[in-house]
Amino acid sequence: MAERIDGKAIAAGVIETVKTATAELKRAKGVVPGLAVVIVGDDAASHTYVTAKGKRAKECGFHSVQVTLDADTSQEELERVVGELNADPAIHGILVQLPLPGHLDEFPVIQMIRPEKDVDGLSIVNAGKLAVGDLKTGLISCTPAGAMILVRSIHGDDLSGLNAVVVGRSNLFGKPMGRLLLQANATVTMAHSRTADLATVCRSADILVAATGRAEMVKADWVKPGATVIDVGITRVPAPERGEGKTRLLGDVDFAACEPVAGAITPVPGGVGPMTITMLMANTVIAAYRAAGLEAPR
Ligand code: NDP
Repeated sequence: MAERIDGKAIAAGVIETVKTATAELKRAKGVVPGLAVVIVGDDAASHTYVTAKGKRAKECGFHSVQVTLDADTSQEELERVVGELNADPAIHGILVQLPLPGHLDEFPVIQMIRPEKDVDGLSIVNAGKLAVGDLKTGLISCTPAGAMILVRSIHGDDLSGLNAVVVGRSNLFGKPMGRLLLQANATVTMAHSRTADLATVCRSADILVAATGRAEMVKADWVKPGATVIDVGITRVPAPERGEGKTRLLGDVDFAACEPVAGAITPVPGGVGPMTITMLMANTVIAAYRAAGLEAPR
């Protein structure tokens, strides 16, 4: 039976490090890490995420700001708000909650966030720094940064000699995850919807990372015996057995079938999920240390 990778426990450990680093920064420089989250519109799921981010930021001892804009906010107004946060010295991290309402263009908004405040790591500058292996001055997208900590919890920092397969090639997750694995010396295959014989490709993986949003797509015979399986996917499905109108989350991996085959595996929920907000906090502390002219904690 595979070892279950406990994302909740690992995330709690990272949060303790963030709290300690926050207290140390305040003591040394009188600086409190500041995180601003901008949300546009009324999407219930987005509001849940934003509330969770604000709560966690306060728990870490941050200066936490939430900017809530009406659903009909114009592009100009949104960009004006981001511009103000860019100029605010008390704010070290800015996150614009995605997706934005359909009339807004998210690309220019994300690109205008100052790279040193882009704690979501989604700007071209930060993606480029990761692409050339500059992990010292860039900020890494939160979910892949968190998934990488889970990989390291099993394999350590050096993945030399290991084959890693990432299924999914989004800018948000798949591409940065592939680059992080490569940076750690894994031999990386990027798979996607046009990959031929995906099962065979996946079976070559010592580290299999699934990020497609296709519930339970990865079957037991896709997993190499003993492999580490990181399940990033989240699909909410109806769960009438839990009561009327209830739902539950499914990952991209058929957990019950793959658990006996894998060497280590993340559950959904409780695997990668808890790491994402945690890494947002870690990135904010890193940004605040850098703004204060100190070496960022890792
Ligand atoms: P995207 O929809 O942007 O990308 C999905 C990727 O999966 C694409 O590259 C697509 O290939 C590939 N894909 C889709 N279907 C298949 C298939 N049948 N076979 C092989 N590849 C396939 O999604 P994201 O990367 O943003 O997110 C992926 C999943 O991760 C989602 O479930 C999302 O909810 C979850 N997620 C979880 C987070 C967390 O905190 N745990 C954070 C971020 C995302 P192609 O490019 O060819 O279309």
